[in-house]
Amino acid sequence: MSLFDRAVVLALPAVPKPLVRHFSQPYIAGSRLDEAIATVRRLNTAGMMATLDILGEHIHRIEEASGPRDSYLALIDEIHRTGVDSNVSVKLTQLGLKLDPEACYRNIRTMVMRAKTHGSFVRIDMEDTSCTDDTLGIYRRLRAEGLDNVGVVLQAMLRRSLRDASELGREGANVRLCKGIYVEPRRHAYQDRELVRRSYVASLERLFAAGSYVGIATHDELLVFEALRLVEKLGLKPGQYEFQMLLGVEEELRRILVDAGHRLRVYVPFGEHWYAYSVRRMRENPRVAGHVARSILGRIGHTNRP
Ligand SMILES: Cc1cc2nc3c(=O)[nH]c(=O)nc-3n(C[C@H](O)[C@H](O)[C@H](O)COP(=O)(O)OP(=O)(O)OC[C@H]3O[C@@H](n4cnc5c(N)ncnc54)[C@H](O)[C@@H]3O)c2cc1C
Repeated sequence: MSLFDRAVVLALPAVPKPLVRHFSQPYIAGSRLDEAIATVRRLNTAGMMATLDILGEHIHRIEEASGPRDSYLALIDEIHRTGVDSNVSVKLTQLGLKLDPEACYRNIRTMVMRAKTHGSFVRIDMEDTSCTDDTLGIYRRLRAEGLDNVGVVLQAMLRRSLRDASELGREGANVRLCKGIYVEPRRHAYQDRELVRRSYVASLERLFAAGSYVGIATHDELLVFEALRLVEKLGLKPGQYEFQMLLGVEEELRRILVDAGHRLRVYVPFGEHWYAYSVRRMRENPRVAGHVARSILGRIGHTNRP
């Protein structure tokens, strides 16, 4: 992170909201459900699948978890009604993981069962390491109940992920593999970019070898290359894996993969809490934050010109 970008991240709360909205537009499908469905339709027309994520705020009382749960149920129904090619992604903290794990389990179970009646699928996103064990535990409980339309996420930056990949592979899990977006201490996570990449490739190799369906979630072309190398080496068919990318990121690379005949799913966030999400995205990716600031400075420079 450059010094300039670091300063911008610190100054973020002072950035005017309309400007944040402007720059977050490529990454968010709007605040309403119909806008999100329209984005999914456009992606489908371009040969891509989607996974819809309702942007959520932190909840403080377990009763508040019924709001996100019901919004997700409506979303699952709407995906079915409109016939778009999309599943949903959800964070368990939105459903009460930190407040009442049992209630959280009931909430996610209701969602997975609703999706099952429509022949659809629910991906449980992975959050920071304080959630890893409980998230995997809830995922396994759902599977033990015979629900197979649910998948989980592994973060290659975590030291534990190689072992988790072996175990989930043995269990025939449907796994999204990503690098991991949370800042974690060294005792939990590799801090070196190259190590994270090596962990990613090793975890992917284990999951593929065990026959898992993997969502290869990355925009890192080196990892895309490594994944394609493994796909070829193991003779996998396009129906045995998919690539996944975030809305608005690396659109050229995603086009290249789709044109080459690979399945590709775009992560489509939407919802009224777009502001908190956008600020988080800019913190995570200082280049975007830097972009906003340079634009503001550019405008000031422009107005001051004679
Ligand atoms: C579909 C999907 C689902 C995800 N789900 C989770 C999850 O459940 N839990 C979790 O911890 N993390 C999740 N992530 C985030 C992931 O862990 C990484 O933080 C993120 O994908 C960046 O890593 P990368 O592999 O793309 O490599 P990087 O080396 O970080 O990025 C490669 C290039 O992609 C571009 N790029 C990457 N990210 C962005 C961005 N945010 N904005 C603009 N450009 C960008 C940049 O050009 C960058 O140089 C998910 C990512 C994807 C694609």
